[in-house]
Amino acid sequence: MPSPTEHDLSQALERDEISPYFQPLVELTTGKLTGFEVLARWKHPVRGMIPPDVFIPLAEKAGLIGRLMEQILRKAFAAASVLPDPLSLSANISAIQFRDIDLPLQIAHAATQGGFALDRLILEVTESALADNLQQAREISMRLKELGIRLALDDFGTGYSSLRHLQALPFDELKVDASFVRSMDHTRESRKIAAAIVGLGHSLGLITVAEGIETQAQAEMLLWLGCDCGQGWLYGRAVPAEDLPGILARETLSPRIEVLAGDVSGSPAGRMEALPAQRLAQLQAIYDGVPVGLCFLDTSMRYMSINKRLAEMNGAPVADHIGRRVGDLYPGMFKIVGPYIRRALHGESLSSIEATYSRPVPDGRSRTLLLSYEPVRDEASEVIGVSVAVVDISSRKLAEEALKESEDHYRHAVELNPQIPWTASPDFVEIDVSPSWQKLTGMSSEEIHNHGWVNAVHPDDMERARNAVGAGIETGTPLDLELRVRRADGAWIWIRSRGSPRRDAEGKVVRWYGSMEDIDDRKKMAQALIESEALLKAVFDAVPVGIVITEAATGRVVISNPQAEKVFRRPVIMADKIENYRNAGALHPDGSPMMPSEYPLARAIVTGNPVGPEEFLYRGLDGSDGWVSATAAPVRGRDGQILGGVVALLDIDDLKRERQALLDRISELERQVLGLRSPLATE
Ligand code: C2E
Ligand code: MG
Ligand code: MG
Repeated sequence: MPSPTEHDLSQALERDEISPYFQPLVELTTGKLTGFEVLARWKHPVRGMIPPDVFIPLAEKAGLIGRLMEQILRKAFAAASVLPDPLSLSANISAIQFRDIDLPLQIAHAATQGGFALDRLILEVTESALADNLQQAREISMRLKELGIRLALDDFGTGYSSLRHLQALPFDELKVDASFVRSMDHTRESRKIAAAIVGLGHSLGLITVAEGIETQAQAEMLLWLGCDCGQGWLYGRAVPAEDLPGILARETLSPRIEVLAGDVSGSPAGRMEALPAQRLAQLQAIYDGVPVGLCFLDTSMRYMSINKRLAEMNGAPVADHIGRRVGDLYPGMFKIVGPYIRRALHGESLSSIEATYSRPVPDGRSRTLLLSYEPVRDEASEVIGVSVAVVDISSRKLAEEALKESEDHYRHAVELNPQIPWTASPDFVEIDVSPSWQKLTGMSSEEIHNHGWVNAVHPDDMERARNAVGAGIETGTPLDLELRVRRADGAWIWIRSRGSPRRDAEGKVVRWYGSMEDIDDRKKMAQALIESEALLKAVFDAVPVGIVITEAATGRVVISNPQAEKVFRRPVIMADKIENYRNAGALHPDGSPMMPSEYPLARAIVTGNPVGPEEFLYRGLDGSDGWVSATAAPVRGRDGQILGGVVALLDIDDLKRERQALLDRISELERQVLGLRSPLATE
C-alpha cells in the first residue's frame, strides 16, 4: 500500500481521524503517576493505525502541522478534564512550529478553551527543532514560560549541539532518549551516557525523565543514577482518552523500588558518578583515614585506587601502585592472594581470610594479614573489580589473644546465666564480678578480692562455701553452690553460684568463669512448702481421728495416720489395697463381711457424694470386733474430677458399748417399772 499523501492527511483532519493517545509518566522512586504525554494517532479507515513518525513529517511538509496540533490539543484538553490537579500533560511540538511566534498564544487559547491550567502543561521539543534559529526559539520559549508553561528537551542525546541548547533555552525537563535506556542493559557506554545525562540534568537543576523504560532492571538502574521520572511500556503504553479513568484509579503503576536514590551508602559505582566533588573529597578523607588498608582492583587486578594505610603496609607510595598489577608489584604476596582475587572477580565475596607470608622488605619477618575481598558490581550487576580490605594482625597477636579471651568470657557467661557473671583467678584470690554484684550486696570489687567475698556469706553457709571453693581450687571441680548472701539492705537472700574452670593445653586451670543468680524467691518458696508440709503432717498425726486417703483409680491407700491404725487395730500400710481388708474388715449387722465396694470410702469415691457418719462393726486381725464410725468424702482435682477419697474414722466401740450398757440398763429398769406398775394396772 502506497504511503499516505498530503491529501489523505488533509482529509483525515477534516474527518477528525486523528486523536490524542495518552502515555503515563511516573515518579521512579514511588511508581506514582505524575502526568501523561500526548501522542498523536491516526486511525485510518482503510490503512488502520498510522504511526506519528509517518504523518508528522508529512504534516510539517504540507503545512498542516498547525491544524493537526490544534485538533490534537483540543481533544487532549477536553479529555484532561478527568485528570486531577497536579497531574500534567506533556504535548509534543514540531520543529516548524517553534519558529512561529504566534505559537504561545495559540496554545494558550486552546488550553483556556479546554479549561486546562497552563501551569500543568509541558511542551516537549526535540533538539532538531531548535537547531536553525536559536534566537527565535529563545524568544518563543520565553513567552511560553511567561504563560506558566514548562518546557522539556525531548530525545536528549540524539541530536547535535544539545549542550548549547540546554544552556541557551529555559528548559525545565530533560528527557533521556529511549535509545540509551534500551541499550543500558548490555553496554557500559550507554550506562555511562545515561549517567552523564542524568548528572548533567541535575547539575542544571532540571527534572530528568527517562523514555522507553521497558524493564524493571532499566528502571532500577535509572533510579540508581538519580533519574527522577520515567515513561515506558513498563508503566503503560499510550491509551485512548476513554482509558484514562482506569489508569487514574490505580495507586501506582509499578512496584516500588526499595532502594532510594538519596541513599549513598552501599550504592554501586553508578550513583557515585552523580556525586558532587565535595562528597568525593569527604569519601577520600575517610578512605585514607580508616585504620584498615583498602584498595580497588580492576578486572585485570590492577590497582585503580589504594588508600594511604595500605600503601604504607606495602612499603611504597600510593602513586607507585596506581595502574600496576598486584602480581607485578608483589609477586610473593600475589602467590597467596591471587586465588582470592580471582574468586572475588567471579563474584564470590570472601571475608576474614588469614594469610601469613614473609615480608619482602626490609626485615624479612613474616606477617599475618586479615583479608577481605568483595566483588564490586556496576548498575547491571556486572563485576567491574574487587574491593580489598587488609588488616595487619601480626603485631597484634597479644591484643587479639586478649580479645579472644574476653570474647570467651562473654560467651561463657552468657551460656551459664547472664544475671551476675564472674571470673576468678585459679586460686580465687582475684575475682572480677559484674557491677550488678556491687548493686546487690553493696560490696565493692576490692572487697571481694583475697577471699573477701566470704564476708558477704551467711555464717551458716560460710563453711560449705569455703569447702566448695577450696575443692574447686584443689581439683578443678565445677562449682554449684546455693548460699545466702547479705544484701545491701542487710537482708539475707539466696543465690546460686555456678562456675567452671577453663584450662590451657596442658590441662592447667587458667581462669574460672561463672555466674550467680538470685534464687531467693524460689528457695524461700521451697522452704515454706517444706515447712507447711511438716506442719500438716504433724497435725495429721496428732488428730484423735483416724484418717485414710486413697487413690480413686486403684483404691490404694496413699496416706494414713497412726490413729487410723488404732481404730482398725492393725497397721495400715501405705499402698495397701482395700481388698486386703477383706479378712479383717467391716461387718454387716448380721455379722457377714462387707464387700469393699460397700465401704463408705468406696461409695464416696464412686458416687462423688459424702457418706456417713455410719456405724459398723469392724473385725480386727485378732478376730475381735469393735464399733467404728466412718465419714467419707471424695477428693476432687481442680477440674472437678475425682482423684480419690478421704475417710475419717472414730473408734466408738467404748461409746457404743457404754451406750448399749446404758440402753440395756434402761430397758431393765423399764421392765422393773412396768413390773411394778402392772399390779396397779391390773387392779
Ligand atoms: P517522543 O515524543 O519521544 O515519544 C515517545 C515515543 O516512544 C512514542 O512513540 C511512544 O509511543 C514511544 N514509546 C514510549 N514508551 C516506549 C517503550 O517502552 N518502548 C518503545 N519501543 N517505545 C516507547 P510514538 O507515539 O510513535 O511517537 C513517536 C514520535 O512522534 C514522538 O516521540 C514525537 O516526537 C512524535 N509525536 C507524537 N505525537 C506527536 C504530536 O502530537 N505532535 C508532534 N509534533 N510530534 C508528535
Ligand atoms: Mg515526546
Ligand atoms: Mg522522546
